[in-house]
Amino acid sequence: MTTPPETAPGSLMAGLDTERMHRIYRHLHAHPELSMREHATADFVAAELDDLGVEHFRCGGTGVVGVVRNGEGPVVAFRADTDGLPIAEDTGLDYASTATGTLSDGTVVPVMHGCGHDTHVTSLLTAARVLLARTDAWSGTLVLVFQPGEETAEGARAMVDDGLWERAPRPDVVLGQHVMPLRAGTVTLSHGTAMAMADALRVTLYGRQSHGSQPQSSIDPIVLGAHVVARLQTIASRELDPRSPAVVTVGTFHAGLKENIIPDRAEFTLNIRTFEQPVRDRVLAAVRRIITGEAAVSGAPEPLIEEVYTFPRCHNDPTATARVESALRAELGEDNVVVDAPVMGSEDFGHLAESIGVPSVYWMFGGFDPDAGEPPVNHSPYFGPVMEPTLTTGSRAAVTGILAYLGGGATGTDE
Ligand code: ZN
Ligand code: ZN
Repeated sequence: MTTPPETAPGSLMAGLDTERMHRIYRHLHAHPELSMREHATADFVAAELDDLGVEHFRCGGTGVVGVVRNGEGPVVAFRADTDGLPIAEDTGLDYASTATGTLSDGTVVPVMHGCGHDTHVTSLLTAARVLLARTDAWSGTLVLVFQPGEETAEGARAMVDDGLWERAPRPDVVLGQHVMPLRAGTVTLSHGTAMAMADALRVTLYGRQSHGSQPQSSIDPIVLGAHVVARLQTIASRELDPRSPAVVTVGTFHAGLKENIIPDRAEFTLNIRTFEQPVRDRVLAAVRRIITGEAAVSGAPEPLIEEVYTFPRCHNDPTATARVESALRAELGEDNVVVDAPVMGSEDFGHLAESIGVPSVYWMFGGFDPDAGEPPVNHSPYFGPVMEPTLTTGSRAAVTGILAYLGGGATGTDE
């Protein structure tokens, strides 16, 4: 673990109420909800905003937007995503979740904050409280965006489609952050691409059913599927410039019920990650070409290719990123701010800024002590960030990013 420098005497951060922050975090961690069903979380956030005297409205279903107007100056939007995941928590924490939720098909599943979005909500509520206690130290407008449904790539789009930027002041910049299995107390960011674009497809290959002893009467969708899956591996290895990263993963494959029946169909799902739009276009075209081409070679009917979801690009604007990065370095210390390559994971955060053509900055903050062993990855049942210095760092980073625009050039220190 690393401990960022103490806050300077007179700094805004001196107003951070650690006990309240931890109470909020424990509550949120123990009460996760599934994507686009974050009703209790939205009520909790709204109650906190009421307590702060912040005007707010619901947006995109279970999204909540708070608006703080504090005189002349830029408009900064800060986004925290609110959803949990269908995972049975196994962290052993005394505030671990035992919650359940209902999937759209009616299945009841355990729910966990397995991606740490509870740390994002806690950090943004804490940052708002710190800033509202010292409205003398900054000037401008702050838009607090509590976004549902990040994990399903639905929430950012739902908020924008529900008039987010008509109902809230249009921001000059959109900021956001994510907890990661990095050293707690540190912040990591990249210049340019921050996270990959993602596409998920569901594919149905059709064949002709037959008795297993009479292949001459069949079109075998399993043999066809095997060729498709093997050939998809050549997109990244044979079709792309090796300097352009891409991932093509077949995550599920299902076909058949019995060893002596050749089935009439095979179904599989694909996950595609890319950093650049031309590469994405090329990979998607290659995927379609290979699937339809292999089906044609097999004499099979045209396969069905359906889009499951798309995550937009998550881009760090160079000018805005340089501004936020230097503020973070001044607040957290040079050694605690790391510039790294973009990650292959994906986010729908980018849609909030790209939908209105404004810059955005997105960074990661650590939540673990690597000296205590390999940290669990996001989406694992063991993903339980240490509360400190994780939450204090997330809150400080949020305040710092906001003050980089609204602090009037000062760091908010009271001279
Ligand atoms: Zn996640
Ligand atoms: Zn996440």
